[in-house]
Amino acid sequence: MKYDYIIVGSGLFGSVTAHELTNKGKKVLIIEKRSHIGGNIYTEDNNGIQVHKYGAHIFHTNDKVIWDYVNSFVEFNRFTNSPLANYKGQLFNLPFNMNTFYQLWGTKTPEEAYKKIQEQTKELNKKEPSNLEEQAITLVGRDIYEKLIKGYTEKQWGRDCKELPAFIIRRLPVRYTYDNNYFSDKYQGVPIGGYTKMIEKMLEGVEVKLNTDFLENREMYQAMADKIIYTGPIDEYFNKSLGKLEYRSLEFKTKTIKTSNYQGNAVINFTERDVPYTRIIEHKHFDPVDTAHTVITEEYPSEWKEGDEPYYPVNDDKNMELFKRYRELAKAENIIFGGRLAEYKYYDMHQVIRSALNLISKEL
Ligand code: FAD
Ligand code: UDP
Repeated sequence: MKYDYIIVGSGLFGSVTAHELTNKGKKVLIIEKRSHIGGNIYTEDNNGIQVHKYGAHIFHTNDKVIWDYVNSFVEFNRFTNSPLANYKGQLFNLPFNMNTFYQLWGTKTPEEAYKKIQEQTKELNKKEPSNLEEQAITLVGRDIYEKLIKGYTEKQWGRDCKELPAFIIRRLPVRYTYDNNYFSDKYQGVPIGGYTKMIEKMLEGVEVKLNTDFLENREMYQAMADKIIYTGPIDEYFNKSLGKLEYRSLEFKTKTIKTSNYQGNAVINFTERDVPYTRIIEHKHFDPVDTAHTVITEEYPSEWKEGDEPYYPVNDDKNMELFKRYRELAKAENIIFGGRLAEYKYYDMHQVIRSALNLISKEL
């Protein structure tokens, strides 16, 4: 065997496993079908501005081990994500907190805000929420649901909020304090100089073959390594033999603008249904630099179709049933399936790293 491991995909899962295995003396080859490393966390330099090519990425975790791990490759800054929501030209703070409640209703104390929300959640009669709409109304009431959640969510997922799982909206905190920090985790930041720098460090000493699709020559690669770690879509690995899993895709429209500061914030969400994009990100605010120009990206969600990048798994009941059947097939293969696409899981970066490190400690 030429390699101990062939890893399919140079995203975060592939890069962490490659780094750890190489450190333990294993011979590793990464096969990546894109023209660059890093998967969806890839950043690219635009005259000094680090552009998040596949959407805004903010690192956050409660796990000190994971925070120290990423900081061992690259220094992180103290960026705190405080997005704004633009609804019909009016701005609201996110996540849902005392600032948002004041902007909506003029409530000034937690008690006033709590009462207002209680009035609006009565319609559900304390029913256990069974979908995203019910969960949202239970958490923040109908006003916020109608203005800041419904339109955004239906654009993002292309489905009615009643057909979406409740867990998606529980990603967002609801706070009775004047705190606009989107995440509640202890540690948060963005790598100074970009995520690509972090991945480059992880992959020092690892052989990487870019522009190469593993599935086009799988027998050849399987004969070259003792083990395969696969981080692509699980249904693609099985030639979609049981049917297609659904994904959401995104189109990124990026513009360079001759102004030093376009929107004054890294992320602004557009929560009404009629604006076709979900958010505009202004890259220089993640990793501030003093430049006369700026780069912004509008994010347009769409249903995944052949040839698109699959960004988000759609974890509704129908897809989860199908995924479980693929997972059964996977058990019979001598292959490790890991990461957001192979595990069909709405993983954040810190969770991907934890899962990759757990895998390595089991493997070795
Ligand atoms: P990927 O990054 O998708 O890597 C998989 C790699 O495998 C890709 O490079 C792909 O090209 C390659 N590949 C697939 N099939 C093949 C094949 N057949 N042959 C060769 N190569 C193949 N997380 C956060 O923590 N904070 C955030 O703010 C955040 N924002 C996000 C915003 C967006 C728009 C998206 C889509 C995700 C966001 N995430 C965020 C999640 C984060 O991107 C993922 O958790 C992480 O990047 C997943 O890493 P991965 O290695 O599992 O997958
Ligand atoms: N969401 C919303 N309004 C917003 C921001 C988020 O309704 O202004 C909902 C939406 O359903 C989204 C979910 O909250 O899919 C999770 O948001 P998050 O910012 O975590 O999404 P991601 O960054 O992963 O796309």
